[in-house]
Amino acid sequence: MIIARSERLHPIAYRVENLEDPKSIRLLNARNVDDLANFVARFGVPDRLGYNPEGDRVLVSLIEALRDEIADGFHTTQIDDDIAKRAWAENALRHVSMYPAFEYSDAAKRMKLGVRASSLADLMLCEVAFALEVGAKLHNCEKCSKAFISGHLTGRRANAVYCSDKCRVAAMRQRNSKGA
Ligand SMILES: [Zn+2]
Repeated sequence: MIIARSERLHPIAYRVENLEDPKSIRLLNARNVDDLANFVARFGVPDRLGYNPEGDRVLVSLIEALRDEIADGFHTTQIDDDIAKRAWAENALRHVSMYPAFEYSDAAKRMKLGVRASSLADLMLCEVAFALEVGAKLHNCEKCSKAFISGHLTGRRANAVYCSDKCRVAAMRQRNSKGA
């Protein structure tokens, strides 16, 4: 069981406008229980409908199951199989709950009709579907081995091999020092 580290119970708002730093990829990179606990401390309990009656805590096995579902979705980007993508989305999105929200958009400077996810888990599954829609691809960083996505809206070129500038520069330094 992972327990939230603060008393904070009011919701945190996340707006999905691009795929530069999706929470779903953060969860995918949470590989052990400590990482999962850090994820919950930073982003909150995924709180999937029907998953978490306690509100401030989550079973490790449930958050791992969510992570596996997210991983399955992203893995369909590596085989580039539309049927697999659709099968994943149909299954994963079936239980996602979204509701309409009419609210002020800072970007558009006017009221806009949008949709809001009922939980962080719902939001992350929609991020994966969004990544599938725009043709993003999952990779593992050649430097740190963390998962990342590349392509449209991700802030990375389609042929990126490093997750970040930090890893790209570190790999370049390593190559240069070997050459010296
Ligand atoms: Zn990296």
